[in-house]
Amino acid sequence: MHDRTGDRCSGTNRDGGPCAAPCRPGRPWCAFHDPDVRERIAAGRVQGGRDKSNARRARKHLPAEPMTAAEVHAYLGVVFKGVIGGKLAPGVAVAAATVAKAMVQVAEVGHLEEQIAELRSLVGWRRAS
Ligand SMILES: [Zn+2]
Repeated sequence: MHDRTGDRCSGTNRDGGPCAAPCRPGRPWCAFHDPDVRERIAAGRVQGGRDKSNARRARKHLPAEPMTAAEVHAYLGVVFKGVIGGKLAPGVAVAAATVAKAMVQVAEVGHLEEQIAELRSLVGWRRAS
């Protein structure tokens, strides 16, 4: 399948213009316009009240794959333009930047964990259990 990552979403914004957000990997829509994600979120809302576990509830709202750095970058660009153009409140940009920063930190930790696991396997280190 052609990977459309980096292409623009085929969705339409509230003002009728084309959505400027990047597509999800292998999908022609961004996370906001992808019907799969919308269904999952809607299903999560209905099921949400019945779930005992917050972690289980959170997982239902997660897209299948983490956002790539390019996607995060593109979303921040959209938010930046929205604030400059007066369509978004500056607070939205502050929140988006905070979340993006956290996402970068999580990605860095994940990368470090992978490297540590690789190093451990190289030296034959075994976790004491
Ligand atoms: Zn979109």
